[in-house]
Amino acid sequence: MLEKIVIANRGEIALRVLRACRELGVKTVAVHSSADNNLKHVLLADETVCIGPPPSVDSYLNMPAIISAAEVTDATGIHPCYGFLSENADFAERCESSGFVFIGPPSDAIRLMGDKVSAIRSMKSAGVPCVPGSDGPLGEDTDENLRLARDIGYPIIIKASGGGGGRGMRVVHSEASLIAAITVTKAEARAAFDNDVVYMEKFLEQPRHIEFQVLADGQGNAVHLGERDCSMQRRHQKVIEEAPAPGITEEQRQRIGARCVNACLEIGYRSAGTFEFLYENGEFYFIEMNTRLQVEHPVTEMITGVDIVREQLRIASGEKLDITQDDVQIQGHAIECRINAEDPKTFMPSPGLVTLWHSPGGPGIRVDSHVYSGYRVPPFYDSMIGKLIAHGHDRNAAFARIRNALTEIVIEGIKTNVPLHQEIFQHAAFQAGGTDIHYLEKRLGLV
Ligand code: ADP
Repeated sequence: MLEKIVIANRGEIALRVLRACRELGVKTVAVHSSADNNLKHVLLADETVCIGPPPSVDSYLNMPAIISAAEVTDATGIHPCYGFLSENADFAERCESSGFVFIGPPSDAIRLMGDKVSAIRSMKSAGVPCVPGSDGPLGEDTDENLRLARDIGYPIIIKASGGGGGRGMRVVHSEASLIAAITVTKAEARAAFDNDVVYMEKFLEQPRHIEFQVLADGQGNAVHLGERDCSMQRRHQKVIEEAPAPGITEEQRQRIGARCVNACLEIGYRSAGTFEFLYENGEFYFIEMNTRLQVEHPVTEMITGVDIVREQLRIASGEKLDITQDDVQIQGHAIECRINAEDPKTFMPSPGLVTLWHSPGGPGIRVDSHVYSGYRVPPFYDSMIGKLIAHGHDRNAAFARIRNALTEIVIEGIKTNVPLHQEIFQHAAFQAGGTDIHYLEKRLGLV
């Protein structure tokens, strides 16, 4: 097992990784910005190194500072968690070339999946269902592009191959605006991602977001841990996630899951990963792979009993997966609310001093958060301050538990989106299950 690792992140996820390390007897180094001296995992870590001032570019995105911290503390591995440098192939490569184990996939797998055109190509060849589209970059030939779009059928979406975070996409409803849309998306992609490759895809109008969790050891073994439904979104940000996805059959789960496992083996994937799909009219369409641990991983842990971070650490230590697909059994239902420090109506961030923090409890309740009474939420980073997760023997039981927990939780001193969650759990359509990715924004009157 790795002896000592650097946790190159902050907040709840850094604490989550620290906890897994402590269970496994792995020593921890918390690297943090000067705004983060009081983070819970910084207080609990075996060693700490301040790597820079508050802005992320100078600290959590500062590769030389993080690698130097690993050197001076004699760490053997680096865990990037999610966000920041987690999907940066250059960082993974620099960790490895400096002699540290990057606790994630090989850098070439990150690179392959980070480019959407190459990702879709390799997924297609592995038998993963993709959105009907241009099968590669769009060329300069106007007639050819018009013909492609006509064959796919409007509406279509133009997407930047190097895009991410919901940027670099444009929906086109009719032939009249196609060519201009391609030109504009290309120019934007060149400016934003330094890569003007764009491609075309059928635009799905009312899809759900369903994603499959995988684990692969890079030694020929891979499993899927079923799917999650993350359709409750606002501005492409997930707000509530659940597992399993309502209405998905065991046959669909095993069929799509097996394709994802096959793709992992074909691309030489290692560590935890997520295949994201849009789901419409009973069909799955791959959109992208996330080559890292995800915010919403706990709902999968709750229904499978598999500790995903523990598996990441074991795999990075060179161990083989110790579970087979048959060992993965789904038990009950889990649901997660992302708790953000923000105004529940305007969504304006609300950093500041948390004067009182009281966690809910009881059977099936899990709270992943770094916040405590007296902690000051800094204004520099993402507004997510924790996750409330409930597990029950079925979806109704999980709902009953999370509703209770949402009334028990007390956070004073800052505004949070807890009232929004309380409201959403009263929506009949959400209770029925299967709402699409536009449901929440429409229901909140945001579109
Ligand atoms: P990013 O890497 O920027 O997150 P994705 O390819 O994951 O890009 O797409 C982000 C979001 O854009 C999806 O979650 C979905 O809401 C929307 N989207 C992407 N492709 C399509 C499509 N073909 N049809 C409908 N919506 C799409």
